[in-house]
Amino acid sequence: MTTSMLLFFQMILRVILTVILLCIATCHSLEKGDGFQVFRVLPTTNQQLLQMIRLFETADTDRADFWHAPSVVNGTVDIMVAPEHTGQFQKYLEKHGYTYQIAIQDLRTLLIEKEGNISTHSTDDAFFMKRLHDDVGFHSRLRMGEYYSYSVLSTWLQRIAENMPDIAKLIKVGTTIEGREILGLKFGKDTPDKKVVVIDAGIHAREWAAIHTASYFINLVIFDQSSLLENKINFQIVNSREGDPQIQNYLDNIVLYIIPVLNPDGYEYTRTDKTNPRARMWRKSRSPKACAFDGVRNSCCMGVDLNRNFDFRFSEIGASRYPCSEIYHGPSAFSEPESKAYSQFLASLKGRLEAYITLHSYSQLWIYSYSHRKFTYAPDIDETRRVAAKAVQELGRMYGTKYRHGTGPEIIYAFSGGSTDWAKETLKIKYSYTIELRPGYEEWNGFVLDKNQLIPTAKETWAGVTVVLDEVTNQWKSSKNRESELSRIRQEKCSDRLSGCAYWLQSSPNICRISQSTMIRDCAKTCDLCHMIAV
Ligand SMILES: [Zn+2]
Repeated sequence: MTTSMLLFFQMILRVILTVILLCIATCHSLEKGDGFQVFRVLPTTNQQLLQMIRLFETADTDRADFWHAPSVVNGTVDIMVAPEHTGQFQKYLEKHGYTYQIAIQDLRTLLIEKEGNISTHSTDDAFFMKRLHDDVGFHSRLRMGEYYSYSVLSTWLQRIAENMPDIAKLIKVGTTIEGREILGLKFGKDTPDKKVVVIDAGIHAREWAAIHTASYFINLVIFDQSSLLENKINFQIVNSREGDPQIQNYLDNIVLYIIPVLNPDGYEYTRTDKTNPRARMWRKSRSPKACAFDGVRNSCCMGVDLNRNFDFRFSEIGASRYPCSEIYHGPSAFSEPESKAYSQFLASLKGRLEAYITLHSYSQLWIYSYSHRKFTYAPDIDETRRVAAKAVQELGRMYGTKYRHGTGPEIIYAFSGGSTDWAKETLKIKYSYTIELRPGYEEWNGFVLDKNQLIPTAKETWAGVTVVLDEVTNQWKSSKNRESELSRIRQEKCSDRLSGCAYWLQSSPNICRISQSTMIRDCAKTCDLCHMIAV
């Protein structure tokens, strides 16, 4: 071999090596989730809006993951795009004349910056588990402003139920597709006449702020009650912290369920690689792959959007039939074990369930029914709206955070198959609300909330939620008062109008039942019908 040939081969080898190294670097950075971008698009014509809605309902998650659904002309839409599709997406926007900007240049960098310092690592989980195990008494409160794994949250719920059996009971809503138990707590002594309020979060996996908020609510209740218990046990009456009368009032008068993570499989998936948008921004459940032909190719993906899987106008609007879409509604209503079990749980409370609140993020909205079509309301809309307006006002009083209230299509977009609409229609719940937490619609960091906003978000949301809890509590109390007043009046009025009552009853023992209305009038006392006297 000549020297020139040798040099030539060496050069070829070097080129091949460089290409391989470059490929490894690129593939690795793609795997880590570098290069995800969020586009802020402004549809300025009706045609552009319709085109965006079509994309929203058909696009694969990687090609266009809508953080916001398109709703109105000149309303911005935030769309996350995977690195391998950003160039193509930009060309598409330019070809159709959209006004747009790249709101987030590299989402992974933002995730590291905003959430990197939040304690979410498994070592922290291990410490926490150890602490939970070694804790004596009732100290098992979670440090707020952090995110925890589902196993930590589950253990925490179990520990609360074990340590405070008079205050909290563990409830098992059902089992997920990957075999996790959906757990929650039930607060307040249950009696059949009490009204029930259910609060949940985390039906959408990536909405961590919602899960944190629900956990904060649990912490709030147990902090209050555990202080009281500790005081009772240690006789620390002097200088002891008094219980919060508001929380005590709720526990005395209503039954409150809190389920902090409805979609634990999805939530755990978002934690597998917290700085990789492909994992962290997962929204759906983790049901097995399903496939559909979209006119170009047969695409197969995992997961169902559980908040499109409820049996309310299933698949009609704001939902997708393509499994690779973020808003895939599943093969049929309640096809998923999570939504099916949850609907059965809610249905088991029918007649007593007065308020149902589901926490989501983001946009700062207080949404009520119905959301599938504009100007479609339940008959009690005035009451629903009145309480929502009051809640939003109360929420804003804390830090000035501005919320809007209305039905889906009035303030965000139309969608069907959601849990609150199903609950409203099927279970006739008076107050059925979807709350979209911080940040606001116009903020560009969306699901990635600053750590220092977590506690304020939870606090102000609690302030809004207490408006609903107060309504339910006060209405129940006033109906109780009314009942006891009525029963007092009835007792006063209760007497026999005629003197032959005892004789009639003796000679015909069924007379009170057979001639009830006459006997209420004439022999209420002898027939023991005082409770039926009209007042
Ligand atoms: Zn959501």
